Amino acid sequence: MKKREILHIYRRVSTNEQSTKYSLGDQLSSGIKKSIELGMDYQDWNEEGMSGSSENIEDREVLLDLYTKLQLGEVKHLYVFDLSRLSRNPMVSSSLRKELENHEVKLYTNESDVDFKSDEQVLMYDFFSSINQFFVRVQRKKSMMGKVSHFKKGGWRGGTFPFGYESEKVNGLKKLVIKTEESVWVRKIYDLYDNGTSVLDICKKLDKNGIKPRRGKFWSGGSVLVILKNDLYIGNDEMIDNISEPSKPNKLYYFEKELQIVDNETFNRVQNTIQLQLKRRNQLTKVKHNNVLLRGLLFCEDCGEMYGCRVKPSKNENYYYCRSRENDWRKIDESKKVKCSVKKSLNIKNTDEQVWLTLVDLLGKSHLIKETIKEDVLKNKFLVDIDKQEKIVELKKKKIYIDKKLKGLEERERENREWYLVGDIDKKQFDEGCNLIRKSKEEQFKELQILSLKIQSITDENKWISWLDKHSGWINGLNKNHSIQEKTEIIKEYVLKITVGFDKNINQHKLKIHLKLPIVNDKYKKLKDSKSKKYEILNGSSYTETLIGQVKVGRKKKENTHELTGGGEIPPIDQNSLRWSNCNYEKIK
Ligand SMILES: [Zn+2]
Repeated sequence: MKKREILHIYRRVSTNEQSTKYSLGDQLSSGIKKSIELGMDYQDWNEEGMSGSSENIEDREVLLDLYTKLQLGEVKHLYVFDLSRLSRNPMVSSSLRKELENHEVKLYTNESDVDFKSDEQVLMYDFFSSINQFFVRVQRKKSMMGKVSHFKKGGWRGGTFPFGYESEKVNGLKKLVIKTEESVWVRKIYDLYDNGTSVLDICKKLDKNGIKPRRGKFWSGGSVLVILKNDLYIGNDEMIDNISEPSKPNKLYYFEKELQIVDNETFNRVQNTIQLQLKRRNQLTKVKHNNVLLRGLLFCEDCGEMYGCRVKPSKNENYYYCRSRENDWRKIDESKKVKCSVKKSLNIKNTDEQVWLTLVDLLGKSHLIKETIKEDVLKNKFLVDIDKQEKIVELKKKKIYIDKKLKGLEERERENREWYLVGDIDKKQFDEGCNLIRKSKEEQFKELQILSLKIQSITDENKWISWLDKHSGWINGLNKNHSIQEKTEIIKEYVLKITVGFDKNINQHKLKIHLKLPIVNDKYKKLKDSKSKKYEILNGSSYTETLIGQVKVGRKKKENTHELTGGGEIPPIDQNSLRWSNCNYEKIK
C-alpha cells in the first residue's frame, strides 16, 4: 500500500484577535476536516503561548521548526486556517507563501476568511528585517540538524581535523580516517610525555623533525596539550547537540574503534598526570605561605577538588580546607557545581607534623629493609643493572615492533578503502577487510598495554635501586631538625598526592598518602638457584593511611626512627642529589 501523504496543520492565535472563531481548537478541527477531504494523515504544529502571539515571525519557534523541515523537503502539504496564521503582515505572509511555492509545497486555507486589508500600516523596514532574520535562523537550524544527523551516522562533526587524521568520503559520508604519517607521531608524543619529557621538549622534537602542526609553523605547548587530552585518540568522538532540544543541550558520543591510535593504558596514565599538574599549578601560582608544608598535595576524597590553605595569624586562622564551595560560588552552570560533604577543615600544624612523621617512619622502615640487603644488592648492582637494562631494551624493541605493525595496519586500512572507492572490491569485501583490520589492531593495542605496564614496573624497580644506592645514608638524618624548605623538598621527592577523607564516626580526618614508589612494606628475596646472586624486589604498596584528630594526636611508633640515628660515615642530606625529582613533576612548563 502506498504511504499516505501528510497534511501539516499550523495554528496559532494572536493577542489582538477577539473573535472566538479563530480559537486553536477550531483551527485544528477544520484542519483535520481538510485532511479527511484530501485523504491524508495530518501532523499538528501548535504555536501556543508567547511565541504564537508575537507578530515578529523570528520569535516563532514552531514555525521555525516547520520551515526547517520544509526546506529539507519533508513537508509537501501545509494547512493554515487563513494566511494571517503565518503573519498578519500581508507582505510577510506573501513572502512566506513564495517560499512555499519555491519548495513546491501546496498551501491550503479556508479561503473565505482571508483578510488582507487589516494590516496595511506595517512599515517596509519591519518587513525586510523580520523576514531576513527568520530565514537566517531557518538556514542555521537546517545546517546544524544536518551536522547532528551526519555525526550520528559516524561522519566527521566538522571543523579542523585533529592531528593524526584526515577525512575521506566513504559511502557518501564524509568520515574521519587515520593519516599514517601523523598517527605514528601521535603515539610518539604520548610515549614521550608518559616517560617524563616536558611539553616544551616535545615541541622542540616535533619541530626538529619537520612535523607541522595544524595551525602555524611551529609547535606550541598548547597544541601538544590539545593532542594529549583528546580522547578521539582512543576512538571516542563527541559533539554538543543543542538543536534537537534547544532548552536541553545534549552531548552526543560516537565510538569508533577504527580511529584508535593510542592504547588505553597509556592514555589514562597521561590524563591523570595532566590533571594533577594543572590543579597543582593553579594552586602554586597563588599567594605563597611560608610555613605550610602540604600546599598543592592535598585532594578531597569526597569531591576530588584540591585543598586550599588559609593562613591569617591576626584572626588565628590556620587551616587546610576543601575548595569545592568557593569554586562553586564562581560557577554559573548548576550542573558543573561539585557536591562535597566534607565540611571540617584541617589544622595546618597538626596535619603537617603528622604527615611528616608518617613519612619519616615509612622511609625508615623501608630503609631498614634496604640496610639488611644493601651489601648483597649493591655488591651485585652492576650485574643487576645490566640485567634490567637488557630487559628494558628488549621490551622497547617489542614496542617499536608493535608500533610498526600498527602503522602497517593503518596503511592496509587506507588501501582497503581506496580499493573500495575505485570499485576494485564491493561493499561486503570492504566491510570484511575493515573488520579484520580492526580485530588485529585491537590485539596490537592490548599487547602495547601489557608492554607499557611491564616497562613501568621495571622503571619503578630501577628507581628503588638507585634510591638504595644514593639515598641510603640520607634517611638517617631525617629526624633531625629540618627547615620547612628542606622538608618540602623531601616530601616532593616521595609523595605523589594525599587524599583527605573525613570519618564521621570517630570525628577525624583520614589521610591517604600516595607515594611515587611502592615502598610501604616492600621486601626483597634472593633467588635460591642462582649463582649470580640475583634477587627479586617484591614491591610493597604505594600508599599509607594516617588519621588527623581535631586535637593534636601523638605518633605511635616513634622508636623506629631512633634506630636509624648515628652512622657517622653517611653524608649529610644537603650533599645528596634528589634523584626522583624528575618523576611526574615539572612536565608542564
Ligand atoms: Zn570536597
